This record gives sequence, C-alpha cells and structure tokens, in this order.
Amino acid sequence: MSELSRRLTGTAFLLCAVFLGGFGIMMQWEDATGVKEKIACMAKQETAAENPKIAITFDDGPDPVWTPQLLDGLKERGAKASFFLMGKQAEAYPELVLRIQEEGHLIGNHTYSHIQLNQKNRKVFKEELVKTNELLTKITGEEVAFVRPPYGSWDKSLEAELTMFPVLWTIDPMDWSSSNVSGIVKKVTDEAKENSVILMHDAYSSSVTAALEIVDKLQKEGYEFVTVDELMLN
Ligand SMILES: [Zn+2]
Repeated sequence: MSELSRRLTGTAFLLCAVFLGGFGIMMQWEDATGVKEKIACMAKQETAAENPKIAITFDDGPDPVWTPQLLDGLKERGAKASFFLMGKQAEAYPELVLRIQEEGHLIGNHTYSHIQLNQKNRKVFKEELVKTNELLTKITGEEVAFVRPPYGSWDKSLEAELTMFPVLWTIDPMDWSSSNVSGIVKKVTDEAKENSVILMHDAYSSSVTAALEIVDKLQKEGYEFVTVDELMLN
C-alpha cells in the first residue's frame, strides 16, 4: 500500500469514527429526550389520577321548581352535570332548557313522554326520540347526541338509525323512591369511583338536596364533576 493510500484509508477511518461517535451521541441525546417526554407524560397521568372525573346525571326534567334550585347549587360549586330531558317537560319549560345549556351542562333525550321500549312499540319509541330531538334542537340550536332510555330499555340498532349514543349508569341510589337524603348520599358516595355515572332525578326536593351534598362530599375527595361526554372521550 502506498503512503497516499495509507493516508486516505486512515482519514476514512477517522471520518467514520467521528461520524459513528456523533451518531452515538445523537442517539443518547434522543434517548434522554425520550425519557424526559415519558416522565412529563407520566406526571400528566399522575395529575389526572389525582383528579378523578365523575358524572352526575338527572332524568325526567326540567322541573319548574327543582331544576332551578339544582342549577343554582351546581353553579355555586362549579360542577357540571348531564340532564336527560323529557320532551313534554322541555316543551313546557323551554327557558329552563336554555338555562341548562347556558350554564354548560349537557342536554340529552329521555323520550317525549317517558315511554319504555318493548317488543311492540319500537316505532312509537323512535318517534318520541325524534320528536324530542327536534324540540330540543329548536330551543338550543344544537343537535342532541345522547339518549337515556327510560328504565334502560334500548335497541342497539337505533344508535345507527338516529346517530345517538345511549348513556346508562353505574350508580343508582333510587332517589325517586325515597326521601331519605342521608341514605341517598351514603349509597352514592360509598359506591363512587373514577368515571362513575350517577343516576338521579331533578324532580324531588330530597333528590336536589342529596345531589348537592354528594357534589360537596365528592369534590372534597378530589372528584371533578364533568358532563358524560367528557367521560366517554377518555
Ligand atoms: Zn326517567
């Protein structure tokens, strides 16, 4: 090998070593960035875990007496809720429907007359949903995407037919059947966990009192009250 070719080979080795060394440093740097991102991501998750989300939902309204009291209480506490309205109630109290919307709560459909879906009434059930959607959209200017089927009776094929999503529940304190506020509060707070969906009714004094106590207690435990769509997006 001539002197020149030895030098060229030597230079090539040197360049190669510099290149590989630089690449190695870049890789290490990238790894470090990746770790940093991972830590930031974990920290974010930890923050989220510290503030578990929960949804409280109210069926059968709006009620001219109890819904305004409930809305006042929710506003004071900075809590968001989801209201599944009956078409006939919304038709009678459109100003309450607007207030629910304006205060940042979610509005869903609970049929027009609280009809329970069965083997024979699918057509009427669907008509009630459509009628109620139209009514609510006329009042709020917004499409209705969520439905709480009365008694939880649902037909999955309606989801595609109406482009609507059913929202069931995970905690049912049977608030409509009891005026025992502390019993309702205990049942809900005992069962509450992250992403729970609480079923209640803004149609009774005891339900409103219990609901606001539930919000107070669970907020103290760190829960954030959000609308049901926020739980579904998680
Ligand atoms: Zn109902």
